[in-house]
Amino acid sequence: MKQSTAPTTPIHLTNAQINELIEAGHCTSWENDDFTSAIKALFEAKEALSKPETLLSRYLKNPGHCPVCQDSAIEGDEVVIDANRATQEVSCTECSAEWIDEYRLASIDAEGFDPESTDTN
Ligand SMILES: [Zn+2]
Repeated sequence: MKQSTAPTTPIHLTNAQINELIEAGHCTSWENDDFTSAIKALFEAKEALSKPETLLSRYLKNPGHCPVCQDSAIEGDEVVIDANRATQEVSCTECSAEWIDEYRLASIDAEGFDPESTDTN
């Protein structure tokens, strides 16, 4: 995979430290790109931290495990594909939860033509 962004460093800040830095950022002139992107990254980190995890967000991060009980004993039915969407009924043999995985067409690999070509005639 092509790396398009500069390397980053994982840092550990408390919510209070993040808030102080964002405050400081608002009091300063926003002329330096590194500074403004750092403040933006802090703001996004704060947003991510303030959102409580849902069963869905946890499942999307860890799709091999039941969204309810976290057990890995889940079984999928056949995948049904229609146009740009595919679905699969899934159930957990541990807690009997049932749900439908939904997949959407995201991209294609192609042979014999360039899918990124702008010649659409
Ligand atoms: Zn379960």
